[in-house]
Amino acid sequence: MNTANHPVAVAAAFWHEVGHHLAGRIYDQHDQQLNLLFGAEYQDHLTSGQEIAADMVMVLGGYPKAKAQRLFGDQESVIVNRDIDALVERAIRHLRAISGFEFEPHFSVNENLNYLAGIVHVAKMRAALLAEYSI
Ligand SMILES: [Zn+2]
Repeated sequence: MNTANHPVAVAAAFWHEVGHHLAGRIYDQHDQQLNLLFGAEYQDHLTSGQEIAADMVMVLGGYPKAKAQRLFGDQESVIVNRDIDALVERAIRHLRAISGFEFEPHFSVNENLNYLAGIVHVAKMRAALLAEYSI
C-alpha cells in the first residue's frame, strides 16, 4: 500500500476490497488477491460485474442513503447526468466535511486528476444507485 495516498483514497480502496470480499461470496469466487489501486482505471471497473459490485459497496459506505439524498436529491430529482458541476461540487463538499480532503498543491497534477476522477466516478455511481434503485 502506498501510505502517501490521501486517507480518503486509502479508505475508498479498503471499502472496495471489502466489496470484493462480499462479491466473491456472491459469485462463489474466493481466489482474488488483495489489490489496492489508487489510479484512475475506473473505465475498467465498468466492464466487470465484480468491480462494479466492489465499487457499489464502497460508494454505499462513503455515502449512506440519507446523506446521498441530502447531497444529490431524492429518487425523482437526483442530479445524475443533468448537472455534473453540481454533483461534483456537492461530492467535494461532502469529502471536505467528513475528511478535510483538499486538492493539495504538493500533490502532482496526475495525483489530483486521479482524485478528481475518483470523486466523479463515486459521485456518479452513488447518484445512479439512488436514482435507479432508491438505495
Ligand atoms: Zn477491484
